[in-house]
Amino acid sequence: MTFNYPTADSEVVSLCAALIRIDTSNYGDPDGPGERRAAEKIMEWLDEVGLIGTYIESAPRRANVVIRIPGTDPRLPALLVHGHLDVVPADATAWQVPPFSGEVIDGYVWGRGAVDMKHMDAMMVALLREMTRSGTRPRRDLVFAWLADEELGGRYGAEYLVTEQPELFHGCTDAISEVGGFSIEVGGGTRLYLIDNAQRGLTWLRLTTNGRAGHAAMVHPNNAITELAGAISRIGLYEWPQQLTSTNLRFFEELCASYDLPFSDDHLDGIVHRLGSPARLVDTMLRHTANPTRFTAGYATNVVPECAAAVIDGRFLPGLEAEFLATLERLVGPRVHCEVIDREAALEVPFEGPLVEAMKDALRAEDPTARAVPWCLPAGTDNRIFARLGIRGYGFVPLRLPRTLDFSSMFHGIDERVPEDALVFGVNVLRRLLTSY
Ligand SMILES: [Zn+2]
Repeated sequence: MTFNYPTADSEVVSLCAALIRIDTSNYGDPDGPGERRAAEKIMEWLDEVGLIGTYIESAPRRANVVIRIPGTDPRLPALLVHGHLDVVPADATAWQVPPFSGEVIDGYVWGRGAVDMKHMDAMMVALLREMTRSGTRPRRDLVFAWLADEELGGRYGAEYLVTEQPELFHGCTDAISEVGGFSIEVGGGTRLYLIDNAQRGLTWLRLTTNGRAGHAAMVHPNNAITELAGAISRIGLYEWPQQLTSTNLRFFEELCASYDLPFSDDHLDGIVHRLGSPARLVDTMLRHTANPTRFTAGYATNVVPECAAAVIDGRFLPGLEAEFLATLERLVGPRVHCEVIDREAALEVPFEGPLVEAMKDALRAEDPTARAVPWCLPAGTDNRIFARLGIRGYGFVPLRLPRTLDFSSMFHGIDERVPEDALVFGVNVLRRLLTSY
């Protein structure tokens, strides 16, 4: 079939590369580049097909774009499709290609944001342009949002909009965004597509100890550093057990089935290690984690300081926060002062219902062997902020990936890149979903 207009699959690669070339590194610094240039580019791309987005700056250069496409059936609830425009910074010296070059080499689009998440931003633009050019109306209202500041918590993006302009999302009951919808290849070449319907929660803790300050040449039993280092070691070395929450259980039932194994907890560890590069990702979704990330103490070699401080990045599985905190408390011990400095709830939405069925159908139509499975994202996304409006968020950026790509290491990693044909696959799946659901 030929079309007399550019289709989404013919535009998505160049749109993605163009977005990568706009540096939107989020340093959390008011003088940083912000998302303005990327948001203006999206406004321009929409304008080219006669669409007028709403451009919202929450602070200088911290820009968001939202647009609602009215559906044909006003009785249906609206669907939110969102992506963030900011990226984490990149150290160019470690990369094979400059991280903001958006080069297309050997079938891959390279650069910071290629998978987190300018790929989806580009798919959203490409599909909107195609739907507008072809005169395709969705069944339900679609709200597309390109957001600022996700990488540092969404204060200038999702959080600002949800607080200041919630009417933009009126009628939205469900959302799709990062991180999910990508394939991992398992036994016999079956491709599992991991749809994120759960996210671990977050607890950041500051640990402090106070001891006796004094001359470091003396016998010194009450040393704040030694005391704190002990607690940090206990936490850092603790092996959190694998746990089957309801999402993890569903995931493992599917995984066992794809290896033709009867489901049993005993297979858990063995089966995870058969997965190759996705093993680390899957192993993380099964456990709490608590990693020491900062440690400060002391000011001179010959002085025992009076205090020491450390920070722990803790992540807990949905429904198990109390158990996680109780274990941490035990590991910290009675002589260390412990304070929660940030907390975010975990998220878990049902892996069933019309949207989940529509996502599965759209995947199967483009990849007949596709098997969609629920999974628990180790970290959080803007979906947790939209949950405050009662919106059920799923991670669904469909990508059919080659087995050789270590996808999870692309996120915030060096040489971040996405296969061109995965982008084309993505728009083909999303086209089906957005026009039929
Ligand atoms: Zn992201």
